[in-house]
Parts: sequence; structure tokens; C-alpha cells
Amino acid sequence: MELQSKLAILADAAKYDASCASSGAVRGDSLNGTGVGSTGGAGICHSYAPDGRCISLLKLLLTNSCIYDCHYCINRRSSNVRRAAFTAEEVVKLTLDFYKRNYIEGLFLSSGIIRNADHTMEQVIAVARTLREVHDFRGYIHLKTIPEASAELIETAARYADRISINLELPTQKSLDLLAPEKSLTRTRLAMGKIRHKLDEAHDRRKNGDKKLRHATGQSTQVIVGADASTDADFLARSDDLYGNFKMRRVYYSAFSPIPEPSKILPLKAPPLIREHRLYQADWLMRFYGFKTSEILTPEMPNLDLDLDPKLAWALRNRQDFPVDIQTAGREILLRVPGLGVRNADRIIHIRRHTRIRLTDLARLRVSLSKVQPFIITADHHPNSMLLDSDKLRARFLPKPVQLELF
Ligand code: SF4
Repeated sequence: MELQSKLAILADAAKYDASCASSGAVRGDSLNGTGVGSTGGAGICHSYAPDGRCISLLKLLLTNSCIYDCHYCINRRSSNVRRAAFTAEEVVKLTLDFYKRNYIEGLFLSSGIIRNADHTMEQVIAVARTLREVHDFRGYIHLKTIPEASAELIETAARYADRISINLELPTQKSLDLLAPEKSLTRTRLAMGKIRHKLDEAHDRRKNGDKKLRHATGQSTQVIVGADASTDADFLARSDDLYGNFKMRRVYYSAFSPIPEPSKILPLKAPPLIREHRLYQADWLMRFYGFKTSEILTPEMPNLDLDLDPKLAWALRNRQDFPVDIQTAGREILLRVPGLGVRNADRIIHIRRHTRIRLTDLARLRVSLSKVQPFIITADHHPNSMLLDSDKLRARFLPKPVQLELF
């Protein structure tokens, strides 16, 4: 098969993987005139798939043949799609050609499982090794690893990559049993634990002066949202586990998009993009705003409100904690005020040392006054307590109804 045809098949097959961001990678460059590539400058190029998903430019599968049969995956064993496979040399050539034409700044490489996990990992590693050792490629490399592969191979992959990831795909073993029967949550967590251990070791070596050490700096994972009956609480509880126990850099939430010739047990629905967005917001609250999963969702309310962002929804459920005096509240309290982000909370703390904060100061910081006003006290503003207690407050924040188009 022509290289061009393989590229069309294997780049298309890779677009369903959302875990491709490059933040946090150690910057490599070839400014000293040796080597090829750089992760600096304009950063990794991204493109947008038709369904709005952000994808990096050279994002490939080594092959879309797979011995597993995950129901949600277009590349599963029982799927009736055209199959193709690159050789390691072909991926190396494409990466370098694309790089030299300034199309990309890195490679995201994943693969269906060919023969067995170890054999597949060896092929993936061969690409990264050739790029790094033969061509001195210093651009960004993200390798997708397979939890069933041997620990040595996963560690070797980590030595050539900037980022490695294992896709968890579903948050519970029950869901995996239903949709990805060959996958095991325990095995995946075990592999993530080993990766974390190696990442910690590499971090310590760098801290102790080993500046030349090449080793991935983080791991990430992806979960698919909307392919099974898992609730948002299931997803957030799993994310909490992954951030806490494995120092995951990111958990990517990928709205399940119907695939051609889908398995009959999958929902035939449009991708739940708003749900995906709300999960990212809730994830952000857990990582940067000090919220616990149990504050965002409860057993009685296991799914996020699709109409309101999770912080606003939390504030409306906890009105007894408001209004907050902007002049005196601690940082952790400011972070809980709807409409105040981390940057503005820090700026407010800085400004209030010299002045009594007024609404105009907040407007200057580009804080949304309509959102923040019911929840705060400033030198010139005290919210109407009737409004804070009123049922109308929620209605005030709901999205405006949209007139359906008739034609
Ligand atoms: S192992 Fe990966 S490529 Fe293979 S069917 Fe499952 S999700 Fe698809």
C-alpha cells in the first residue's frame, strides 16, 4: 500500500485519541546547530477535527489492526474497516519530512495491539529510538503505552518520550467488562504506578544535577464519556484516584463519538460535548481550586448540572457561605466565588493591601460583574439578601432559551 494511503487511514484512525497536549514537557531544542527539531518556539501545532476535538498535527497509529475487541473503538478486531500498518522507518521518515516542512513540532504515536503487547511496544519504541538516536530529533514525542507490556519496555519508551500515557478509557472495572473485556483496571493501575515510580526517580536525578537526562516528565490518560452508564461521580472519583496516586498530569475526557458500524451495545447519540466540558471544569476545580469530589457531586446528585458551571452550581447549593467580603476573605474562600479565577483571586489579594476594593476595580480585572455580584461584598456593594435567597437567582444564570430554526 502507498505511504500516502497508509497515512490517510492511520492519521484518521488516531483522531479519536484526545490525550495529546504537550504542557509540562521539558523543552528540547537544536539551537546549538546540532540535531533536528525543537519543542519550543511556537509550541506543538494543533488542528481541530470536524467534531471540535483538538488534535496535534502528526498524530498517528502505527497500525489500526488490533487483537482486542473494545466495543467503542473503530479499530477493534471485529470492526469492518480498511487496515494498514506503517513500518517504524516509514513513521520516522514522515515525522522528519513533516518537521522539515514546518508542519509539525512533534509526534504522537499510538497503535492497535499487533500479535501481543510486548511486540507492539517494541515497534513503537523503534520509532522513538531511531528518531532520537539516529536523527538526533529533539522535538516532542508522546508515546502511548500498553499496560500489558513488560515494565522494561514501558521504561524504555519513557526514556525516549517527553510524555507517555496509558488510556484507561472507562472509570470502573464493571464498565471495562462490558465494553473492553480484555482490559483490566488493576493491570492498568499497576502499570501507572510503575511509571510514576520511574518518573519520580528521573525527577530526583534532574534535581540532583543530571541536566542531560532524557526521560518523560509526566503521564496522562484518557477516559471516554458517554459510551456507558458511568456517572460523572464515577469519572471524578477515578480522576481523583489518578491524580492522587499516580501524579497524572492530565486526565482527558473524550466525548464518545458514534463510530461507523458501531457495536449494538453502544448508545446512538451525538457526542456529549457539554458533559465533556463540565467534566473538564470540575476536574479543574479539584486540581486548582481546592474542591473535593464529594463537594462537587454526591450520591444523590451523581451527575453535573449541564446548564451551569460546577462552581456556580456549588455556590447556589451553598448560599449560606455567601456573601464573601472581598476585602478580607482568605484566598481559598475567594477561589470559591463564582466568576473569580485563580489569577484574579491573587490580583485581588495584591490590590487590597493598598486600597478598598470597589466594583470598578473588579471590572478593571475583567471579572464578570453580573456573575460575581450576588456573592460578594465590596466597599461600594452589598448584595440584596433577598436575591441571594431567592429561587430566581438560579434562573438568572441559566442559558437563554434558543429559538429553534424552522427551516
Ligand atoms: S486495545 Fe486500543 S486499539 Fe485495540 S480495540 Fe481496544 S481501544 Fe482499540
